Amino acid sequence: MPEDCLFCRIVAGEVPADVVHESGTAVAFRDANPQAPVHVLVVPRRHEPDLATLTRADADAASGVLRAIADVAEAEGVAGGYRIVLNTGASAGQSVFHVHAHVLGGRDLAWPPG
Ligand code: AMP
Repeated sequence: MPEDCLFCRIVAGEVPADVVHESGTAVAFRDANPQAPVHVLVVPRRHEPDLATLTRADADAASGVLRAIADVAEAEGVAGGYRIVLNTGASAGQSVFHVHAHVLGGRDLAWPPG
C-alpha cells in the first residue's frame, strides 16, 4: 500500500470516512464534497491508479467494484437513475490516483457532463 494514498488509508481505516458499503474487494464511502444528494465513491481495496490497470492486474477486483456500484445504487435508492463517473488522468479531473467510481444520483443529471 502506498503510504501517501488517501484512499488506501481510508480502506485501512486510518482516515475516517462515512463508509456505506464493504465487500471483500471494494469499499464505498460518501464523497467529502458531494455534487448530488447521493454521491458515493466506490474504490477497490487493491491499490491501482485507474480502471485499466486494475482490470489487467485483478479482474476479480474490477468486477467487485462493479458489483459494489450496483449494491450502493440500490441501497441509496437511486437504482432507477444514477451516473457512474471514473475520472481517469489529471486532464479528466482525477485528483486521487487510486481508482474510484463516483456514484451520483438523487437529482436530474445533465448531459453532456462538460
Ligand atoms: P477525482 O477528482 O475524480 O479524483 O475524485 C476525488 C474525490 O475524492 C473528490 O470528489 C473529493 O471530494 C473526494 N475526496 C477527497 N478527500 C476525501 C475524503 N477524505 N473523504 C471522502 N471523499 C474525499
